[in-house]
Amino acid sequence: MIQFIGVHKWFKKLHVLNDINLHVKPGEVMVVCGPSGSGKSTLIRTVNQLEPIDKGQLIVDGMDLADKKTNLNKLRAEVGFVFQQFNLYPHLSVLSNITLAPIKIRKTPRKEAEEQAMKLLERVGLAEKRDSYPSQLSGGQQQRVAIARALAMKPHIMLFDEPTSALDPEMIGEVLAVMQDLAQSGMTMVVVTHEMGFAREVAHRVVFMDQGIILEQADPEEFFKNPQHERAQQFLRQLL
Ligand code: ADP
Ligand code: MG
Repeated sequence: MIQFIGVHKWFKKLHVLNDINLHVKPGEVMVVCGPSGSGKSTLIRTVNQLEPIDKGQLIVDGMDLADKKTNLNKLRAEVGFVFQQFNLYPHLSVLSNITLAPIKIRKTPRKEAEEQAMKLLERVGLAEKRDSYPSQLSGGQQQRVAIARALAMKPHIMLFDEPTSALDPEMIGEVLAVMQDLAQSGMTMVVVTHEMGFAREVAHRVVFMDQGIILEQADPEEFFKNPQHERAQQFLRQLL
C-alpha cells in the first residue's frame, strides 16, 4: 500500500528524512514513534504529498508520487488524514462536516452522502450529535467526528498524526477505541502516537525514528521487550 524507497527530504540544511525505506502492506497497522522533532509528522505528511520528497521513490496505493502525472486529488481522496488539532470546519454542523467532501469532490448525491454520514456517526458513537457544531463538542467527540469525516471519502489508507495528544486524559480512550475498531476492520493505518498501549495491542509493527532516520522497525512485542538502540531505550524509559 505504501512503499518508501531510499526517500530523503531536507528543510534547507536540515536533513529531516534520511534514507527512509518502509513498506506498509494492505491491512497493516504501523505505529511511528520517536522524540519530538525526529521527523514523524514530515514522514506521514509525505504520504499524501502535504510535503513533497526530494529524493528516492514513494509509491502510495499504486501511485508514484514522483510522477508528475499522478493526480493529487485522487491521491488525497484515497488517503485519509487525522490531525492532532481535529481541524473541523467550525461554521458547519457535524453532519455537514462529514458530507462536504463526498458531495463536492466525489459528487455523491446529498441524500446518499447524508445516509453514509449517519452510518459513520453511528460507528463512532455520535449519531445524536448530527446537528451540533464543533464548538458544542468535547475534544474527544470532535476527534471522532474528524475520523468519521476522513472515512466518508472511503479512503484505502488512514494516517493519524498524534490524534490523542491534544485531548484531556479521560477522552483518549474513546478515540483509541474508534481507531482500534478501524484497525480490526482491516484498514491500512499509519499512526504517529506515544500511546504505547495502543502500539502494543493494535499495531502490527512499530517504527522508531530519531533525527530523520528509522532506527528500528520491529514487532511491537519485540520493540517493547528488547529495544535495540540506546536512543529507543531512552525514549521508552521517558514514557514510563
Ligand atoms: P516530529 O513530528 O517528529 O516532532 P517534524 O516532522 O514535525 O517532527 O519535524 C522534524 C524537523 O523538521 C523539526 O526540526 C522541525 O522543526 C523541522 N520542520 C518541520 N516542518 C518544517 C517546515 N515546514 N520548514 C522547516 N522546518 C520544518
Ligand atoms: Mg509531529
